[in-house]
Amino acid sequence: MSEFDYDLFVIGAGSGGVRAARMAAAMGVKVAIAEDRYLGGTCVNVGCVPKKLYVYGAHFSEDFHDAAGYGWQVNPPEFDWSTLRDNKRREISRLNEIYKNLLINSGAHLIHGRASLSGEQAVRVNDRELTAERVLVATGSWPFVPEFPGSEHVLTSNEIFDLPVFPRRMLVVGGGYIAVEFAGIFKGLGAETRLAYRRDLFLRGFDDDVRQFVADELTKKGVELSFNTDIERIEKLGSGALKVYLNTGEQTVADVVLYATGRKANSQGLGLSQAGVATDNEGAIIVNDRFQASVPSVYALGDVIGLIQLTPVALAEGMSLVRHLYKDDNSLLDYSMIPTAVFCQPNIGTVGLTEKEAREQNAEIDIYRSTFRPLKHTLSGSSERCLIKMIVDRQSERVLGVHMVGSDAGEIIQGIAVAMKAGATKSVFDQTIGIHPTAAEEFVTMREPVSQKNTA
Ligand code: FAD
Ligand code: NDP
Repeated sequence: MSEFDYDLFVIGAGSGGVRAARMAAAMGVKVAIAEDRYLGGTCVNVGCVPKKLYVYGAHFSEDFHDAAGYGWQVNPPEFDWSTLRDNKRREISRLNEIYKNLLINSGAHLIHGRASLSGEQAVRVNDRELTAERVLVATGSWPFVPEFPGSEHVLTSNEIFDLPVFPRRMLVVGGGYIAVEFAGIFKGLGAETRLAYRRDLFLRGFDDDVRQFVADELTKKGVELSFNTDIERIEKLGSGALKVYLNTGEQTVADVVLYATGRKANSQGLGLSQAGVATDNEGAIIVNDRFQASVPSVYALGDVIGLIQLTPVALAEGMSLVRHLYKDDNSLLDYSMIPTAVFCQPNIGTVGLTEKEAREQNAEIDIYRSTFRPLKHTLSGSSERCLIKMIVDRQSERVLGVHMVGSDAGEIIQGIAVAMKAGATKSVFDQTIGIHPTAAEEFVTMREPVSQKNTA
């Protein structure tokens, strides 16, 4: 009989926490999991899932337009925000229920309430103290909004999905995943959309060709991009609209200002410092490569450790931890070649190094690049183009990075990531027979490098 109430107490039923709790419970580990807000966490409730549904919704405006060249006569379509929003709500409620059943059926004890550490092996939840041999903190992250006069008027991704009224004029601030995705969503759904980013080109960290290509595509679709632009203050007008003063001296009016300026570890009020759990300057819990915090009985993973904020990474971390703790698996999680997509329109899909990173790390690289108008748009009349880019180490022929901007790039790059993980060389791509006619066949037909970089 254990001296503890549980073997494992998980705080937070989001992507990482649910995966760890279910997997451990299914192995016979005595697990409790506490959640105070929504089952499934950010991804299910205010992240990946509703976002992707809204991306699908936004795409219809182009689809109706594109259909005309194929002979379809479509009356001017009308968009009803409340239908999309309420259908989304119903789907999320269905998913919440599925998550509840998955947890309960796995044998984990689900507790509704806000939990905090009350000791190295103790958790306080709903005014009860429960003990556990190990505590896993998987509390995710929270939107960060810088403070400035009027910052109380802005919204974040937490609120944007459930707007009571669809905005006519939308200002998105930021230049990362959320800003770019939501600029596309709101433009597609019919709002006048402007994106303001503080530096000279958004999507810092992505390949430079990708960044410029996406800027060009979004501009063609009517998103107004304002680079080197920041917000100085915001005033709420009598009409409810927001008057925004930009650092360029310009003023603009928007119905909604969405701040997408990053997310910080959700580690406040968890009793971490009292329990001796170390965090960094940003509040992220510091862990070793086994997800163990400075207090050995406490573990943390997912967004709260401040590394890579992606659902599949949180899932992989949860599985890696459980295998290590309860299956004696000592392998470390491999963070190399993590593919990612930005669901703007068209999508970005990317895996491996950017050209800049490859140049810094490798003496000689070859760049293969193709830009083209996808077959679909020869009849649709759309000017949307597709970019495909490969970065190859000349000596070993290893493909170091693959980038795509185009329809379904997220779907396509997932398969390419498998090849990259297996160490595919350019000749493996060359020997692979294409699927015709597709955009993805370009990955196996690019024969001549467009540029060769010698940095040695
Ligand atoms: P979360 O999923 O956030 O779960 C943490 C849970 O802990 C939450 O349910 C929270 O309520 C709960 N909690 C917090 N404190 C307590 C407490 N004290 N007691 C009890 N419960 C508590 N990633 C992708 O891979 N693809 C995407 O397309 C994508 N789109 C995104 C779109 C948006 C708008 C956002 C915001 C994020 C998106 N992400 C996407 C990122 C992804 O959602 C996160 O990386 C992922 O959810 C992190 O999982 P997690 O388990 O660390 O935390
Ligand atoms: P990101 O880190 O992607 O981008 C933050 C942006 O905000 C950057 O452009 C940054 O600029 C800017 N910024 C930061 N601070 C300020 C400030 N004080 N004033 C003005 N601008 C500022 O964060 P997001 O909020 O877009 O998304 C959070 C995370 O969620 C992502 O990093 C990603 O991991 C995950 N996510 C994943 C998605 C997917 O997989 N498709 C979709 C959505 C989110 P600068 O470049 O100058 O630093």
